[in-house]
Amino acid sequence: MRSTNFVIHMVYYTIYTLTELEDSKMKCPYCGYKESRVVDSRPADEGNSIRRRRECLSCEKRFTTYETMESLPMVVIKKDGSRQTFDRSKVLNGMIRACEKRPVPLAELERLTDEIEQTLQNSLEREVSTETIGEQVMEKLKTVDEVAYVRFASVYRQFKDINTFMSELNKLLAEK
Ligand SMILES: [Zn+2]
Repeated sequence: MRSTNFVIHMVYYTIYTLTELEDSKMKCPYCGYKESRVVDSRPADEGNSIRRRRECLSCEKRFTTYETMESLPMVVIKKDGSRQTFDRSKVLNGMIRACEKRPVPLAELERLTDEIEQTLQNSLEREVSTETIGEQVMEKLKTVDEVAYVRFASVYRQFKDINTFMSELNKLLAEK
């Protein structure tokens, strides 16, 4: 009985602490209002945190928050089963390579990287396979540039021959 109470207490404590952190992080420093919208977001501290420019929905003043990812480390499981810490710059670099000489602005790729990182952070899983990340990158690239998408997919899925490559290409064209 005592242990049950203890667990319940800890759960409440954790939720309370997380809520507090979340609130103090996002609260407008000028008027204390809790809701704001993000006007700009970019990686900072070599990708260890995200710097967000926010605008208070009440007084409309702008302020900056740094959202650190370190508190919830994410582990990536590679194909050979080895594990390493999630590194957002690898995701971004992969997309930059696929978009070489394509009319896709870097800011757009950074935004997509943010979205992928956010999706991963929001899931309760702390371990994620390179496969899952690759699929997400493909989904995102598909929406911005089809050539980049096919390039990435061809490297990522390691098409064994021209036929598999063509069938993927045809699938893409058929979706239009
Ligand atoms: Zn405000």
